[in-house]
Amino acid sequence: MRLDLSGGRTTIDGLPPLRDVIERHGLQAKKSLGQNFLLDLNLTSKIARAAGDLSETTVIEVGPGPGGLTRALLFNGAKRVIAVERDERCLEALAQVSGHYPGRLEVIPGDALKTDFAALAGTTGGSPVKIAANLPYNIGTELLIRWLTTADWPPFYQSMTLMFQREVAERITASPGSDAYGRLGVLAGWRTEAKIVFDVPPQAFTPPPKVTSSVVHLVPRASPLPTDGKRLGRITEAAFGQRRKMLRQSVKSLGGEALLTRAGIDPTRRAETLSVEEFVRLTNAV
Ligand code: SAM
Repeated sequence: MRLDLSGGRTTIDGLPPLRDVIERHGLQAKKSLGQNFLLDLNLTSKIARAAGDLSETTVIEVGPGPGGLTRALLFNGAKRVIAVERDERCLEALAQVSGHYPGRLEVIPGDALKTDFAALAGTTGGSPVKIAANLPYNIGTELLIRWLTTADWPPFYQSMTLMFQREVAERITASPGSDAYGRLGVLAGWRTEAKIVFDVPPQAFTPPPKVTSSVVHLVPRASPLPTDGKRLGRITEAAFGQRRKMLRQSVKSLGGEALLTRAGIDPTRRAETLSVEEFVRLTNAV
């Protein structure tokens, strides 16, 4: 049986269909806010399930929009959801979801880029936190990098289940030697085990984006190699900024050949051949 949230008058969770919600609250998608909505509860439930058992978990969601994924998280048993949404037009619709699940949904109006997520996680009374989101494409990478390079480790989250454009998902999960390998692959590989769980075609979204999307699941490593995340980010950025050049050239401003020799890395190699462990060594040698 298909669980229809987009068409008929009733839905599996007892709330109005999302198409009605969008119409009633005038939530025409804004490109500037990266709005591509998911209206199918089967699909949003699949994302919620990819986040694992949520019954004892507080889920932090970025960009609930009209509430498709939020509703799936709650319907699939999340103990609590804290959702940060920048578009004030969505707040009324989200208040209705809140009313339907008393005490389980807190909506925080505001900009995710200005939100202290670790502090937010500290308000959950000790319950484990997972992040789940269909991220706005224009800030998705920036948020992921912040979550990967957080000062405290283990981090405030147990896992992240996030939608990205397929091409970005490939960069997050890339291995050394591949064209997609770069700063994102190094940072994600350093601190997490990351994998693509499934693809989502453009036509699943309203409005459809130009490209395929993918859901990525990231689980923090218990003991990542010790280094400074911000510095690792800067080094990889420099190294891959000129990815076809030898490292002695691309990291010249950071110490060039002498730095590479100190780190025990052949200065004639190129960035894409270095493992995560070698990038950590290079960072620690700076
Ligand atoms: N979760 C909904 C879904 O799956 O249908 C909407 C996802 S849509 C791709 C991205 C959402 O992020 C939109 O609701 C948009 O308003 C919100 N958003 C965009 N920029 C934001 C920001 N800086 N902070 C918080 N939310 C933001």
